[in-house]
Amino acid sequence: MISGEYDVVVVGAGNAGMCAALAAQENGARVLVLEAAPFDERGGNSRYTAGALRFVYNGVNDLLKLCDLSETEIATSDFGTYTQDKYYDDLGRLTDYKSNPDMAEQLITLSQETLLWMRSKGIRFAPMYSRQAFKHEGKFVFWGGLALEAWGGGPGLVEGLFKSAEDRGIEVAYEARGEHLIHDDDGVHGVVATVEGKTTQIRAKAVVLACGGFEANAEMRTRYLGPGWDLAKVRGTRFNTGNGIKMALEIGAMSYGNWSGCHAVGWDYNAPEFGDLAVGDNFQKHSYPFAIMVNADGVRFCDEGADFRNYTYAKYGREILSQPHQFAWQIFDQQVVHLQRDEYRIRQITKVTADTIEGLADKMAEYAPVDKAAFLKTVSEYNAAVQRDIPYNPTVKDGRTTKGLAIDKTNWALPLEKPPYEAFCTTCGVTFTFGGVRIDTDGRVLDTAQKPIAGLYAAGELVGGLFYHNYPGGTGLVSGSVFGKIAGTSAGKQVGRNT
Ligand SMILES: Cc1cc2nc3c(=O)[nH]c(=O)nc-3n(C[C@H](O)[C@H](O)[C@H](O)COP(=O)(O)OP(=O)(O)OC[C@H]3O[C@@H](n4cnc5c(N)ncnc54)[C@H](O)[C@@H]3O)c2cc1C
Repeated sequence: MISGEYDVVVVGAGNAGMCAALAAQENGARVLVLEAAPFDERGGNSRYTAGALRFVYNGVNDLLKLCDLSETEIATSDFGTYTQDKYYDDLGRLTDYKSNPDMAEQLITLSQETLLWMRSKGIRFAPMYSRQAFKHEGKFVFWGGLALEAWGGGPGLVEGLFKSAEDRGIEVAYEARGEHLIHDDDGVHGVVATVEGKTTQIRAKAVVLACGGFEANAEMRTRYLGPGWDLAKVRGTRFNTGNGIKMALEIGAMSYGNWSGCHAVGWDYNAPEFGDLAVGDNFQKHSYPFAIMVNADGVRFCDEGADFRNYTYAKYGREILSQPHQFAWQIFDQQVVHLQRDEYRIRQITKVTADTIEGLADKMAEYAPVDKAAFLKTVSEYNAAVQRDIPYNPTVKDGRTTKGLAIDKTNWALPLEKPPYEAFCTTCGVTFTFGGVRIDTDGRVLDTAQKPIAGLYAAGELVGGLFYHNYPGGTGLVSGSVFGKIAGTSAGKQVGRNT
């Protein structure tokens, strides 16, 4: 029940919004969160995740501050480190050094302490053995900068956040869609929302927008990402339709970031239009570094082994979308099936197997046909090009390459020669969009003159400036937490009850 005066209204109850709400409450504010989804679908994209978290840690002792590890786990695991320098390198390299330097610095330098703060709010973390470590010479070796996940994955994370909010008296209204900001020359004074179908004015001293990007809006995707993006499947919630961005732009906020860019991955060809909470992120197919990918023309179109999955998966959805008929098959043989992630073993999967590559092509034709002659030629040329004398090691970029192909596979190249062969059909699944509004280092939304709009803050997917072209896996949740906490803290302090 929405009643009385609120200090801070947060629009959107995903990870960024709930972190903002907790931070605002901690600073003395009475907080209301508006969530467009019904109760059963609450939690936004955050709930669909595996909860992978990219943050700075300088060894196992930093991990022990965040989660419990048994002596056996410590003895049998090589967690490595993920230093600030490495994070800067990864973010810079992947975004073509376009990431806003202030935002990058806040994300990286505050990543660990923000997770510690979340822990203090009851959120639990666990090592991510299943997806981010391979057993090598008797040890679980972590690779790619992602050592921890939220306990219980995305569903565990959002349950923890809602529980923490409830315990602290933060109110959440469901089926409550923010439509417009209440705004005059003095700034923002609340939100006009549709609450269970009724237009409602909710006044507040500050508003935090945290209601996602425009990935679930086919019209906006096509308008900003470009032709063909209407054909992508949406990996997560159907509620992130760009409303928060529109609300802010309507009152003069500055648009910012990579509006034509997004995070998009290889996603099961027959997945539904939007995400399915029962399946979560398992429609993704992220073991392609150990496979080859071919399109309808029967040819490879990218270097599957260019880097660890964490650094290529978010841009390969776009590659798949631009292939004829927007699909790609991933082909594995028995040498690597043990490296396939858990998502390859779900029931809702577009998969065929056969004892020969020829037989595989015939079975693939039942779902999404490829040019068979070209496909057979691709496989035999690929097999012949593999440099077999280079040792194979999935825990490092092993440099085991092909040589002489139009597009070489530059790591983890094994010939396809051990049947039965497995093929998985993928299309493009869009995760979230990179363009949005501009904030300053206090999480305040800036206008087109780059001045803060009084009373308006933002965090999460709807903020532009951090990601361009690509994205290091596990950064979305941590950035939502870091900037959510900053925005909520600023909004809470503006209200001034604790000062
Ligand atoms: C399948 C999948 C797997 C992923 N895996 C990972 C991972 O392992 N690690 C990682 O770091 N990132 C991952 N991501 C990315 C991550 O989900 C996002 O970066 C992050 O959750 C964004 O948080 P957010 O709070 O900004 O948005 P969301 O969590 O999407 O929250 C936005 C909320 O706003 C609500 N909303 C929208 N419009 C309105 C409105 N007008 N009024 C009120 N409410 C509104 C929505 O219903 C939603 O609840 C994944 C994403 C998907 C889809």
